[in-house]
Amino acid sequence: MTGLYIHIPFCRHKCRYCDFPSYGGVESYIPAYTEALCREISTSPREGLAVDTIYFGGGTPSLLTIPQIASVLQAVTQHFVVDSHAEITLEGNPDSLDGDYLKQLRRLGINRLSMGIQSFQPQLLHSLGRIHSRRQAVEAVEYAVRAGFDNLSADLMYGLPGQTLQMVSDDLEQLFQLPLCHTSVYSLILEQGTCLHHDVTTGAVSLPPDEQVDAMASLVHQAFDAHGFDHYEISSYARPGRRSRHNVKYWTYVPYLGFGVSAHSFDGSVRTAHIANIPQYIRDAGRQSVLAESVIIDTKRAQEDYCFLALRMRDGILYDDFARRFGVSVESEFGKVVERLMAQGLLEQTERGCRLTSLGLAYGNYVFSQFIR
Ligand code: SF4
Repeated sequence: MTGLYIHIPFCRHKCRYCDFPSYGGVESYIPAYTEALCREISTSPREGLAVDTIYFGGGTPSLLTIPQIASVLQAVTQHFVVDSHAEITLEGNPDSLDGDYLKQLRRLGINRLSMGIQSFQPQLLHSLGRIHSRRQAVEAVEYAVRAGFDNLSADLMYGLPGQTLQMVSDDLEQLFQLPLCHTSVYSLILEQGTCLHHDVTTGAVSLPPDEQVDAMASLVHQAFDAHGFDHYEISSYARPGRRSRHNVKYWTYVPYLGFGVSAHSFDGSVRTAHIANIPQYIRDAGRQSVLAESVIIDTKRAQEDYCFLALRMRDGILYDDFARRFGVSVESEFGKVVERLMAQGLLEQTERGCRLTSLGLAYGNYVFSQFIR
């Protein structure tokens, strides 16, 4: 079944490290944007498609009011066939998640929350430009549990300016006191054009040295392992049975359909991306003109994409699945690459194929690049 992604590009404040398609201070567009989303969903040519995951991502989807989220969900259920056990996730930031709002979200059918916590250290939250406090993060989780959510995820970051190993350890200790069943832990990527990039390049702040970031990564892996989480994807840890069903679709080459500005879709053979301009989207939603890009994925490219996406998962490349999809073997297409990466200690054999080793996890981008022919 397909997954739906719905992009909400609004944030109260732009974080200093963020290069996601999100904008601060333009919340006045939200009502018209919500209507445009409903229009785009209701006129999708994929009417009747079976859907088993819906993901409200951002930006900060929790800036939408309950009636606005309800209207988008209604457009979805009227136009698509939504599985009765669908995973319906909404991303939110702790400063926009209060008890009453969460109860109403749960009543609407949202059954999974993904919270942007990032850190519990006040000075790091401040330097990242996050506008929530440690207390708000803890309270948001408590409110969510009281509202009936039992599928809670959080995002955490390491490799931050001014961050020490002890701070990462404290964040993990705090995190494991919360009833979360999923966490995505990201190493900071310094993106060009962000305020933080400017701060680092002008010397106003400095990043921890690489060996310290590696030590942080090891600490994170060991801590989640010790707490019984399954490290099922490079950055993702889940309690048993609590993998993100929506995100797993991206990594296992399952089609998905995106709505809203900057949203991407993949139907198995074509990838498309929407325009990023909010006023233009509001005007044109439902028309072809919201498409910014459309790329036909030929077999060669599909095999490459399949391999490096699969390698993000701890299950890795499944040789029988590859052969079933493409009618050729991994051995015939990438045999030499796999052999070389194994000799370098970056890939290891599994019962059904191959996957990244612990060393390979640290050099993921290099490994992925080797599959591009
Ligand atoms: S809340 Fe998330 S999407 Fe919004 S600016 Fe911060 S990091 Fe970016």
